[in-house]
Amino acid sequence: MAQDLDRDPLRMALTRVHIIGAGMAGLSAAVTLAEAGIPATLFEAGPAAGGRCRSYFDKHLGVRLDNGNHLLLSGNDAAMHYLTTIGARDTLTGPGRAVFPFIDAKTDERWIVAPGAGKIPWWILFNRIPGTKLSDYLALARLKYAKPGQTVEQVLGGSELYRKLLEPLAISALNTMPHQALATLLWAVVEGSLLRGGSACEPLIPREGLSESLVDPAIAYLAARGGILHTATRVSAIRESRDRIIGLSLPGGDVEIGEDEAVVLATPPWVSMDLLPGLIVPEDFEAIANLHYRVGAANELPDLGAFAGEAGFVGVVGGLSEWVFAKPGVLSVTVSAANRYADLPNEEMAERCWQEICRLRGAALPLPPFRCVREKRATFAASAASEARRSGTYVGIANFAVAGDWTSTLLPSTIEGAIRSGVTAASSLLANHAARSTEPA
Ligand SMILES: Cc1cc2nc3c(=O)[nH]c(=O)nc-3n(C[C@H](O)[C@H](O)[C@H](O)COP(=O)(O)OP(=O)(O)OC[C@H]3O[C@@H](n4cnc5c(N)ncnc54)[C@H](O)[C@@H]3O)c2cc1C
Repeated sequence: MAQDLDRDPLRMALTRVHIIGAGMAGLSAAVTLAEAGIPATLFEAGPAAGGRCRSYFDKHLGVRLDNGNHLLLSGNDAAMHYLTTIGARDTLTGPGRAVFPFIDAKTDERWIVAPGAGKIPWWILFNRIPGTKLSDYLALARLKYAKPGQTVEQVLGGSELYRKLLEPLAISALNTMPHQALATLLWAVVEGSLLRGGSACEPLIPREGLSESLVDPAIAYLAARGGILHTATRVSAIRESRDRIIGLSLPGGDVEIGEDEAVVLATPPWVSMDLLPGLIVPEDFEAIANLHYRVGAANELPDLGAFAGEAGFVGVVGGLSEWVFAKPGVLSVTVSAANRYADLPNEEMAERCWQEICRLRGAALPLPPFRCVREKRATFAASAASEARRSGTYVGIANFAVAGDWTSTLLPSTIEGAIRSGVTAASSLLANHAARSTEPA
């Protein structure tokens, strides 16, 4: 009787997937499965979902903050699909076109990168960045043919375009200094954005916060489709038998994984490696520091000047800051690839970045209350060594898939990469299961 049931495709239908980690990768896997009619149970170690992409109330400043300023681009297709599915696409805001204002912290020179909407890059002819030459832009093609292991600096370094756009783009998108960052990963970013024209480069920022855009609507979407989220629930072990995951160890006891169930491991690399010994994961990480300044109404967005007004943020070159974001009541500075500042005390970093903001605004102001948030392992380093250690989603266990921005997405550590990895993991389980359930008995 049991054998007959096992052969019945209905009996074998995937009934639930257990997901370890409710960051962007885990949520994206759950949303993809929900779209296919399969509910998920998420186990999240932290007090709330979102992982590295979350908002929280900061008692010291008395405001709600994002753990780090996050920028999406309209050409982040997986992220846009995810947001549309969970009904949150409208929670992102932006200038409505591709516009990136920059300032040189040393010389005070200002320029705006504004690719036109179409695919043909007329802006390179008629609206290029001051001081750059047409040949600088044509050199971008070298990225496509970069040899494995070549760095961004080796392939592109030297030109004015490099200094004014490509270097800051590489540092922020790859969170790795260009002398270490892989050219192939920057190519993936350029191919998905600049080369598709301005319509794929429109900057998008959560109107309210990361959680309000990317996390809370996903949880509501999942709950309406049988999804369950357990926060403050750390998975301490995964039990495997005969190439199947059969159980998870949780603080309150074990969870059995049924024959018709599956598991997605969507934790950061160092946790994934502990839970699944033998898994190869990146080992080098880069920090990001965010400085949040509590400012009064007088310091808000309009005071940054028309220059930053339209975009809501300014890129800074030649300084400590990389980006300054203006939000109601808060100015937030992002310092990327921040391992190099590990020994710089928070107070000094806050003071120096504030001086840069004062210069940007053309007015000296006393240092306001601030919060410095350093995410020490914000992203894996986008280096050749990391790239060689990125794992695929399928690791040879039938009812199991791995997700996370660090898996082999071909993208750097980004929301887009994490969401794409969740889609891949869910699709792999669905395909695997369909294949198994139609296998001849
Ligand atoms: C400061 C900062 C700025 C950034 N800026 C940008 C940006 O501008 N644009 C962009 O695209 N990307 C940006 N990123 C990168 C982006 O946030 C990440 O790539 C993405 O959030 C990673 O998602 P993930 O699901 O792969 O991993 P995570 O977010 O790390 O999620 C993993 C989850 O697993 C949970 N977990 C861990 N161990 C266990 C366990 N044993 N049991 C259960 N749960 C567990 C964790 O608590 C976490 O919630 C930034 C990151 C940081 C830190």
